[in-house]
Amino acid sequence: MKSLSIIGSTGSIGTQTLDVISRFPDRFRVAGLAAGSRVDVLAQQVRTFQPDLVAVPDDRAATGLRRALEELHVDCLPEIQVGPEGLVALATLPHVQMMINAVVGALGLKPTLAALRAGKAVALANKETLVAAGELVISTARHHGVPVIPIDSEHSALFQCLVGEDVRKVRRLILTASGGPFRGQKDLSHVTKEQALKHPRWVMGAKITIDSATLMNKALEMIEARWLFGVPMDQVDVVIHPQSTIHSAVEFVDGNIMAQLGPTDMRLPIQYALTYPERLPGFLEPLDLTRLGSLTFEAPDTATFPSLNYARQAVAAGGTMPAVMNAANEIAVQRFLADEIPFRAIFSIVERVMDRHKPVPAHDLSVITEADEWARRTAASLDRW
Ligand code: MG
Repeated sequence: MKSLSIIGSTGSIGTQTLDVISRFPDRFRVAGLAAGSRVDVLAQQVRTFQPDLVAVPDDRAATGLRRALEELHVDCLPEIQVGPEGLVALATLPHVQMMINAVVGALGLKPTLAALRAGKAVALANKETLVAAGELVISTARHHGVPVIPIDSEHSALFQCLVGEDVRKVRRLILTASGGPFRGQKDLSHVTKEQALKHPRWVMGAKITIDSATLMNKALEMIEARWLFGVPMDQVDVVIHPQSTIHSAVEFVDGNIMAQLGPTDMRLPIQYALTYPERLPGFLEPLDLTRLGSLTFEAPDTATFPSLNYARQAVAAGGTMPAVMNAANEIAVQRFLADEIPFRAIFSIVERVMDRHKPVPAHDLSVITEADEWARRTAASLDRW
């Protein structure tokens, strides 16, 4: 029986992770859950999975959770912790073997480091952790001899293609991208929030859906791949593949390309991350290759969607620059979702904040946090784009 804690349990990845767990009741036990504001959903999860510890952001959420648990007549109440320390407590629960990091944003970094330092494997769906602090996170994992297993479909694909392979024999990691709802468009000046929130292939949270529309999602994934697999940035490529059937591929020095295919359902990479290095019989309808039709591929349009260039620039600048890129983007997306700025301004805000930043080495959390906060303030204060 593997004991797990999940941070971000009521979000898109969190709920799908619990769905996978519920299908293997004799393999997994949920020891801890953490969520933000959706306390009613969290209360249902507590009733079903009976964790020992639950973390919520503040006292209001804790009160709401207690009330919801009472209404559900849950007798066996978990310990409830409040604030960021609650996430760290979840990450370091003594009997837990793996933490699933499914929170959105920079909030995921601290608990990830805490889990790795406590010798826990981390299944990572939180992109920002590796983008902001890839070097620190991967060196911490190595130092403590614990794996970081990707949940993101692209990185799960790369991870699976690399099982048993020598990463020095990789010529290119090829990340596939759907291209988002505006693929093929040259003029993004009139796109609306409703259009941007409509992803052609995946059903996801609002932040990541906007990131898919700007290709910033793929930019973050390039940086993530660079750290996860220890390859230089010029060996990380992106190919637009609108059907999203091939989730990513690895090209080796001998010219062979290995690709991973599967249905566009996050529960597949989640199951792999939870059971790795084992494979357990799955519960999803597998792909029927005879019914796929054609798979198409094209080069990304980096002139209209410059995010991929930002990722290369951020890694080349090094240190705190990727964290700044990520933080500026988070604020820009928030401002777009709040109808404060047009879609196209997301790019210019990220670019301007990066232009103003002088990167410093990102060897510890406080330096990264400081750069992150500076970038957020700067991105929030820009009123011209
Ligand atoms: Mg992805």
